[in-house]
Amino acid sequence: MARRKKIEDEALYLAPTPMQVGLRGCCPRCGEGKLFVSVLKPGKSCMNCELDFEFIDSGDGPAVFVILIIGFFVTALAMTLQTSYAPPIWVHMLLWIRLISILSICQRYYDCSSI
Ligand SMILES: [Zn+2]
Repeated sequence: MARRKKIEDEALYLAPTPMQVGLRGCCPRCGEGKLFVSVLKPGKSCMNCELDFEFIDSGDGPAVFVILIIGFFVTALAMTLQTSYAPPIWVHMLLWIRLISILSICQRYYDCSSI
C-alpha cells in the first residue's frame, strides 16, 4: 500500500529538493503549498495536494530557535544599554524580562501566511 502511494506521488508531482523545501518553506511533495502556518509552526496539511503533515515532528527545535534568536537580540540590546548608560540592575530586569516575554508570546501568534 505504501509503495503504491509513493509511485502515485512521483507520477503526479515533481518533488522539490530538500534545499528548496527548506529555503521556501513549501510542501515536500508538491512544492506549492505552504509548510508553515506561523513562523515556526507547521500546518496540518498542504493546501495544494492535501499531504498530511502529521509525520513532521519538530520536537523542541522551534523552541530552541526562539530562545537563540530572542536571546541574541535581547543580549545585544542589554549590552548596548549597559555600555552606553550604565543603568542600575533593576532597569535591566524591568526591561528585558518583559521584552523576552512579549517577543516569545508574539512569535507564537505571528501569521506568516501573507509572506
Ligand atoms: Zn503539497
